[in-house]
Amino acid sequence: AKEGGRNTFRLYMPGSRSFVDHSLLVYDFERALAEREFFLEFQPRVHAETGVITSAEALLRWRHPQRGRVMPGAFIPIAERTGWIVPIGRWVVEEVCRQIREWLDNGQPVVRIAVNVSARQFQRENFVAHITEALEAHQVDPRLLEIELTETAVVEDVESARKKLGRLRDMGITVSIDDFGVGYSSLSFLHQIPVDALKLDRSFIQESGVGGWSVMETIIDLGHRLNLCVVGEGVETECQLALLRDRRCDEVQGFFFSRPVPAADFVRLLAASSIQL
Ligand code: C2E
Ligand code: MG
Ligand code: MG
Ligand code: MG
Repeated sequence: AKEGGRNTFRLYMPGSRSFVDHSLLVYDFERALAEREFFLEFQPRVHAETGVITSAEALLRWRHPQRGRVMPGAFIPIAERTGWIVPIGRWVVEEVCRQIREWLDNGQPVVRIAVNVSARQFQRENFVAHITEALEAHQVDPRLLEIELTETAVVEDVESARKKLGRLRDMGITVSIDDFGVGYSSLSFLHQIPVDALKLDRSFIQESGVGGWSVMETIIDLGHRLNLCVVGEGVETECQLALLRDRRCDEVQGFFFSRPVPAADFVRLLAASSIQL
């Protein structure tokens, strides 16, 4: 392990009561990109009533030579603080386009794939240009791409976000707000920016109390009044699914249906899902 150095970051881990030295160096990100240590897993999103897969979310993983499999929670915050999220995020977009193209070329069933985009990545001047380039390079229909942004990414500069999202949606890209309800929750931004879907933060769904469910019901109603698709995240039990269906939540995602899986396994899930149709 590398010691000290100016590029070592200490992160406070809630619950650990101490500062944990992740000793993840900027140098690691550079090598990870060069050596192709990053890879994606795909988690299906399903229609709440029928269970048919409508799309999937691409989730980043890191095959680290010393640490083994590293999950995004352990390195995305560091990548965001150091700016490495920009090249890493670009790699994710390119990899999703490459993967979709590979599925298409193999004659496999394909659904829209959602990519998580960090605020810093979205706020870059050339964000839209880069997305366009990646789609064109792999000849992928923009309707097969979705971007997930947090409220934070949008509210910092609503006017600029409105323009960028307008351009993306004009191309046919789907836009959703991730972890909705736990960010700024400045509800006024919702009708000012063009979005297609709200992804309800999983804390609302996993909270058993009446409070969490009331907020959730209110958000579903709000989404529907604004003509948005509402997606419930983090569905782990049949009971949670039943409640979401009862509240007319449109789509759901969670371990109850499937964990995020490697591309090859996702293709099998998708093949099984289309047969049900
Ligand atoms: P997110 O975008 O909200 O993604 C959903 C997270 O919830 C994923 O964690 C997923 O594995 C997890 N999840 C899904 N269903 C369930 C469930 O039923 N129960 C529980 N307990 N968890 C569930 P993951 O893969 O560890 O990713 C964590 C976060 O890291 C993501 O949250 C996203 O904010 C970020 N992230 C992941 N990939 C990327 C990426 O390519 N770029 C950027 N900028 N951020 C990413
Ligand atoms: Mg997401
Ligand atoms: Mg989320
Ligand atoms: Mg998130």
